[in-house]
Amino acid sequence: MKFEGYQVRVVRPKDWVTFRCQRCGACCRHVKQKVMLESLDAFRLAKFLKQRGDAVTGMDDVLGQYTESVPLENGYPIFVLQVSGPEDACVFLKDGRCSVYEARPRACRLYPFTVGPGTKGRDFEYLLCTEAPYHFTDGRVLVNDWMYQNFKREDKEFVKREYDSAREIGRRLRQLGSSQLRRALSPILFFRYYNYDLEKPFLPQYDRNLTHLMKKLRELQNGQ
Ligand code: SF4
Ligand code: SF4
Repeated sequence: MKFEGYQVRVVRPKDWVTFRCQRCGACCRHVKQKVMLESLDAFRLAKFLKQRGDAVTGMDDVLGQYTESVPLENGYPIFVLQVSGPEDACVFLKDGRCSVYEARPRACRLYPFTVGPGTKGRDFEYLLCTEAPYHFTDGRVLVNDWMYQNFKREDKEFVKREYDSAREIGRRLRQLGSSQLRRALSPILFFRYYNYDLEKPFLPQYDRNLTHLMKKLRELQNGQ
């Protein structure tokens, strides 16, 4: 099975997987346009970098300084971490180590696991990326423990909301003409990525922003 370009297989919470991180940094290299930064990731990174004293005051600084935007088919933008050097290493890889480890994106925290939309009444499917066999040589990880440690309540709530909202936003965008689509870009960026106060909890702001965005998309659809 392929998931976002990676070879994966489904795993269950009670499965044990042979895995131990050797801290080789290989998963942080050759990652051009591979490490997506979602809004919750950008929020956490901005808070972390600001507290560390970097020149960051909000999510827009993180997106502007450390990501590139990749437009999807419908023009909807996603953000991926920048890379540098001949190995296309992640912009945050310094001296072979992640320099933002405490605030690394969800994709990095879960790796080599990932999550996808669930089936049969489950919220999520747990998946194991099988493309780097060199770290599957020793050690033992229970999938349930890994998710407990790395996929916490705020992430789960965020991802569930993202599955629902992405479907709804995609549906609305498909109903817009090309000039309306262009006009939709600013509110999408503003309400999805920029309109956050780092001192307040993320999820209530996410919900409020989503309500505003849907209203704006409805207005565009109605020609307002
Ligand atoms: S997860 Fe794997 S590729 Fe990444 S640092 Fe650990 S051993 Fe290396
Ligand atoms: S954010 Fe950290 S863990 Fe994730 S790819 Fe970059 S250096 Fe690696």
